[in-house]
Amino acid sequence: MAGRRLGQHFLIRKSILERIAAAACPEASPESDATVVEIGPGKGALTEHLLARAARVIAIEVDQVLVHYLQQKFRDNPKLTIVGADVLKVDLAQWGPVTIAGNLPYYITSPIFERVLSIGPLLQNAVFLVQKEVAARVAASPGSRDYGYLTVQTRLMGEPKYLFDVPPTAFHPPPKVDSAVVQLTPRAEVPVPDRQAFLEFAGICFRHKRKTLRNNLIENYDKTLIDSLPEVGKRAEQLSLEQFIDLHQRILKG
Ligand code: SAM
Repeated sequence: MAGRRLGQHFLIRKSILERIAAAACPEASPESDATVVEIGPGKGALTEHLLARAARVIAIEVDQVLVHYLQQKFRDNPKLTIVGADVLKVDLAQWGPVTIAGNLPYYITSPIFERVLSIGPLLQNAVFLVQKEVAARVAASPGSRDYGYLTVQTRLMGEPKYLFDVPPTAFHPPPKVDSAVVQLTPRAEVPVPDRQAFLEFAGICFRHKRKTLRNNLIENYDKTLIDSLPEVGKRAEQLSLEQFIDLHQRILKG
């Protein structure tokens, strides 16, 4: 029961494990200096593939039974650090520039994304196995059904890419949903001066998805100002990241 509660579906198909590790650490070599933070290592299936490609792996696992199992399994491997903790309580910026990867526990995908993206320029690469619908939302284009707050939040930090689908049969036990792997290639610089303020603004724009931007924005901003902006008759899902940034700037200037 505890396992199901913690989203424990272990990936068992080797070819998929290797594809995820290769996306996370494309330049595998004995001289690699990549540090990879793995979220939810479980029994260490992906960890093994990451260890073969990275200089150092830091694996964060909340289940103490699995932490103990991992400590035994990898006791002779000096490249691995096991952190027995809830990933939502760990400071992911403490290891300097990192790649972050994992077969995520699906019940906390959004807060994990939030924490991963908040380390800003320290994030070098990110590769996650997530629920297929989440992968579609992360990588969606403006105007499509899947485009939403998660897309804008992700694009603010980098270029998302939908890599490939993973069927339930690749896991033990098989999850009830389809899965997919997404990658995020971070930007050198975040394109807004205040990330948190921009995300709050984007959150307001998407508050009621079916409403126009105008009807969402007048709940928080001056009505006359909002009515003077040409694009507010559109819905949030129609705006690209650049258009959101531009709109936010104009509203801030008043
Ligand atoms: N990566 C492994 C694999 O592919 O075989 C297991 C992935 S399983 C979907 C999710 C893992 O995340 C489980 O090992 C679970 O115990 C762990 N987990 C769940 N919640 C967590 C949390 N808050 N912090 C860290 N790990 C967590």
